[in-house]
Amino acid sequence: MYFREQVDATLAERKPHEQIALVHLNLDRFKSINNTIGVSVGDKILQQVAERIRASAGSENMLARLGSDEFAILQTGKQQPRNVTALADQIRRELSEPFLNGEKRVTLSVSMGIAIAPENGGETDILLKNAGVALSHAKADGRKRERFFTGEMEAQMQLRHALEADLRAAVENEEFELHYQPLYDLAERRTCGFEALIRWNHPVRGRVPPMDFIPLAEEVGLVVDIGRWVLRRACRDAAQWPESIKVAVNVSAIQFRSGNLMQDVSEALAAAGLSPSRLELEITESVLMENLNEVLPILHALRDSGIRISMDDFGTGYSSLSYLSSFPFDKIKIDKSFVNDIVDNKEAHAIMRAIILLGDALGMRVTVEGVETAAQLTLLEFEECDEIQGYHISPPRPVRDVPHLLSLPPKSSGATAFPTLER
Ligand code: C2E
Ligand code: CA
Ligand code: CA
Repeated sequence: MYFREQVDATLAERKPHEQIALVHLNLDRFKSINNTIGVSVGDKILQQVAERIRASAGSENMLARLGSDEFAILQTGKQQPRNVTALADQIRRELSEPFLNGEKRVTLSVSMGIAIAPENGGETDILLKNAGVALSHAKADGRKRERFFTGEMEAQMQLRHALEADLRAAVENEEFELHYQPLYDLAERRTCGFEALIRWNHPVRGRVPPMDFIPLAEEVGLVVDIGRWVLRRACRDAAQWPESIKVAVNVSAIQFRSGNLMQDVSEALAAAGLSPSRLELEITESVLMENLNEVLPILHALRDSGIRISMDDFGTGYSSLSYLSSFPFDKIKIDKSFVNDIVDNKEAHAIMRAIILLGDALGMRVTVEGVETAAQLTLLEFEECDEIQGYHISPPRPVRDVPHLLSLPPKSSGATAFPTLER
């Protein structure tokens, strides 16, 4: 608040030709660093970060900590954008030197968004907002850099706002649909469940893929409502299937943070009359990057109620391995990027084998995603992988196709030869 007051005052006293730069800084991936090194070391490093930024900013500029790993600098009475660029350069240089804490060496990088008054706004709120918009562009452009606010960003933001408004309407009008993709048990040679994958049928744009709206829904919190709808519908659909068939539902980190996930899940199960043992929840590493003290009790409560928990997209995050030991997952789903080359590339095959063995050793079922060919199936069967999912079995299909998918004959393990690794 003090910082805001200072920006207010500076803007009010601005002379006609004077420019004022507002820099919004955010450390890159600090949350995962914090989780790896521990919060108390994280705190010490934040203090060192603040000192380095303060030294770069000098006494004539005002520095504030906006929250956790976010800082802001107000630079007055200088030639812009030249001086603020020099300042940003210096901060980036200073923060790129490793931080030391006892034995530990930590390297950091920072992203910055810059807005300049009066061009980018004459009021504190607008200036802060636009610096934030520029910051999110810096992050999206690969982090470790600064971005100046531009009119184009403004236009993009309007587009996003339009999409957001549409998304809100979509929740009201139930424009969503679930498609189901088989999870195929290799030992039993049959489909043992389906993953529910959301589809948005936009009245004008047509079908919008989840990757184009789930991230936005997460950012604006709508994913809680959408997730609740997905849970209800998936449980209701699954209640129509044979007892032996499970349903897997993707759950976003935001549902753990802002929703009442436990309640949403039990209501969905109760409304459908579905046994908890038939529901699997798929979570990604981002869930565990949240506050573990809040997330772990929820995960344990879900698991204690008989629901299974899978770690999704295994291998794509920063510390999949360390997260594996933080919770007793029932299943790990190996990301499709690991399957591409397994048939032709010995190294890829070896990595796949090692992950399958790792899952076995931890007593977790292993599902491999993105299986597209008979040769991949054969290899995974040979490696005693539990379950596969992918276009080779079937792409995601509308719910009405489930009975047909269940009636398909077993996928024969093709006689396709592949160069085997020595055991
Ligand atoms: P995911 O959970 O990893 O889902 C698997 C994605 O891989 C699906 O994309 C699926 O269509 C695709 N896929 C399946 N088999 C193959 C294959 O053989 N080859 C290739 N190249 N791709 C394959 P989709 O349906 O576009 O979903 C993308 C992502 O959106 C999902 O990734 C998930 O993270 C998210 N998502 C989907 N539905 C929901 C939902 O209800 N809630 C939340 N929070 N996220 C969802
Ligand atoms: Ca998934
Ligand atoms: Ca996945």
